[in-house]
Amino acid sequence: MTKKAKKIEENFLTSNVFTFESYSCNCEETLVSTNISLQPMPAVRLTPVSSKRIHFAFGSKVGLVRLNEDGSIAENNILGKLVAIKANDVQGYCSFFETNGFLFPIAPGGSEVIGILELQTLVDRLHATLELMSTITDMSRTSYEKIVRMVFYHLFAPIVSVELNGGKYKYYSDKHQYSSFLESNKDAKRDSRLNDTFNNTDFSFTDTITSFSMNADFVDSVLNGTPADSKYELPFFKEVFTVYCAPRAGKPKSMLFINDFVFHYLYEVGIIDYVDLYETHYVNDELDKTRFEGRLKAAAVETAKYIIKEEIEKNLQRVRPTYSISKLEPAWKIDSLLSALYFGLFYMRPNMETYRRCANPKCGEFFLVPVSSRKKKYCCTACMNRDMAARKRARDKLNATKGQ
Ligand SMILES: [Zn+2]
Repeated sequence: MTKKAKKIEENFLTSNVFTFESYSCNCEETLVSTNISLQPMPAVRLTPVSSKRIHFAFGSKVGLVRLNEDGSIAENNILGKLVAIKANDVQGYCSFFETNGFLFPIAPGGSEVIGILELQTLVDRLHATLELMSTITDMSRTSYEKIVRMVFYHLFAPIVSVELNGGKYKYYSDKHQYSSFLESNKDAKRDSRLNDTFNNTDFSFTDTITSFSMNADFVDSVLNGTPADSKYELPFFKEVFTVYCAPRAGKPKSMLFINDFVFHYLYEVGIIDYVDLYETHYVNDELDKTRFEGRLKAAAVETAKYIIKEEIEKNLQRVRPTYSISKLEPAWKIDSLLSALYFGLFYMRPNMETYRRCANPKCGEFFLVPVSSRKKKYCCTACMNRDMAARKRARDKLNATKGQ
């Protein structure tokens, strides 16, 4: 063994935080019929190859890596590779599963089919958690716009359920507690003090974020579903506003806090129609960025932390502590690659390391860097050289046209 390989092995076998084993999967494109649509949808069929075992380990500073037989690193940054696969790129997913195995355990001898839509939704959600965590751990680069987008993405993300091995293995991506809270309170009665629109021209509110007042007729008209401006009739705004105006006693403080944030954001900045991973879409494109200031930004960060906690905890439910007899050390039993990827996020040390997206637009991979390294923009030197060369070509071309 070379000196270098030995050093890596020592690093990995003695200082990794957790390890995980799986096996490679043969992967082929197929079609699947679902309840939602009668038309067959693109899917992948996965067949595990139990002779090809795969070993992963997680270490601080490197994240989840795949190991060679001798314990040296075969591939870095498995999480970054997965989320960098282009949306609905069947070939990209197949080659990932062939190298790294599937996201969930498949019984040996079995084979499973999963729709690309379901698969993409699972990966998008992991991607959104990664984005949210890296934006709030790297405050020098933080984009508050992105925090809001990822907060709303999580709160209303589509639900996926996956059943494998004849129903023995089930995975559900639940609704967030806040969206259930909103739904169960959508018919809540208004606080009694908000009934007297005869003696009041304004109502004063004190919530977990601020104190302010609103016109009594406005409050009345929105709650009655007859506002002058139709944007306040939208079901989402109305639900949030109904909860905002309901009595607060007995409701969980964390839910009230999120609702206060959501209400102020929609009311002051703009009403969100929907979000995807890349963009926030506002009703009528109406948006007042100047109103997104200090206290609202702080509330966005607080809400983000709450969401990360919920998301990570939910995805670690199948990680169990065990005790390694051979090493006389604590160890972790991890059921799936997806759990291992979330477990890696769980171990990310805020203020110490963060994921950054490679600045080479042709790569776009997320890579792990110390927060203190302000300058590192590329995942590797190859990406840096390629991007620099592309920029130089673009500059030369521009200069040549100017010269003409
Ligand atoms: Zn790169």
